[in-house]
Amino acid sequence: LGTPASPTGDTTAIRVQHDETDPLVVISEVNKHYGDLHVLNNINTTVGRGEVVVVLGPSGSGKSTLCRAINRLETIDSGTITIDGTPLPEEGKQLARLRADVGMVFQSFNLFAHKTILENVTLGPIKVSGMTKKDAEEHAMALLERVGIANQAKKLPSQLSGGQQQRAAIARSLAMRPKLILLDEPTSALDPEMINEVLDTMIGLANDGMTMVAVTHEMGFARRAADRILFMADGQIVEEATPEQFFTDPKTSRAQDFLSKII
Ligand code: ADP
Ligand code: MG
Repeated sequence: LGTPASPTGDTTAIRVQHDETDPLVVISEVNKHYGDLHVLNNINTTVGRGEVVVVLGPSGSGKSTLCRAINRLETIDSGTITIDGTPLPEEGKQLARLRADVGMVFQSFNLFAHKTILENVTLGPIKVSGMTKKDAEEHAMALLERVGIANQAKKLPSQLSGGQQQRAAIARSLAMRPKLILLDEPTSALDPEMINEVLDTMIGLANDGMTMVAVTHEMGFARRAADRILFMADGQIVEEATPEQFFTDPKTSRAQDFLSKII
């Protein structure tokens, strides 16, 4: 995580090649119901190491549920999800380990309101990973530098803009040295002028080889940063394609309809 985020205008992303024979995440025949609603309907996909997968789809199609299932914030009815070869744990210590391995960034930044930005970022490494305060603070400052808000470290979340808070939330998830980061509409709660600073941070992570699954409505980001688009509708992955394929030649009528409404 040494290089600064590339500016949004830079379209030449330097991507890390991923090894498709040994994916980081394997999702196999996953089903979940909420009562009569089949919210995840036979989901099968993989996420390669260093891959950036962008999940698109209409509201209510199951995108958040899929993210939450990968982080074991939701249970699944059937099927399997493995992270780095290990099935998702049921509970206990392994669940804490999983939560460290799989970072999650939400639409609402979910920072601890009464703790400083620095404390927000060091809390997990000290409590869960057993880092010393000094080491955790050094690492946290490097991460805050990385997301461009090192000068805000001593402030409370409420003293930061929305874009800065979301970058702090990204730094907090990076502090656990995750293998994968899930981002569920990370810019949807932001004022328009703050969206790009968060997208630039995400592009920087992608260029550094971080494995990411991002739900977003930012089609510019999807086109530029995604290695693969997963298009969901009615709890199913309806289309899986490169951004080039998906945006220029969507195969399904559901995807064509979706794109005609947003572009
Ligand atoms: P998306 O993120 O694509 O908008 P979600 O995964 O949030 O979709 O939700 C998919 C569907 O599941 C929606 O119809 C939603 O109302 C429903 N749903 C989500 N969470 C719950 C829940 N806890 N209980 C019942 N229904 C839910
Ligand atoms: Mg959602």
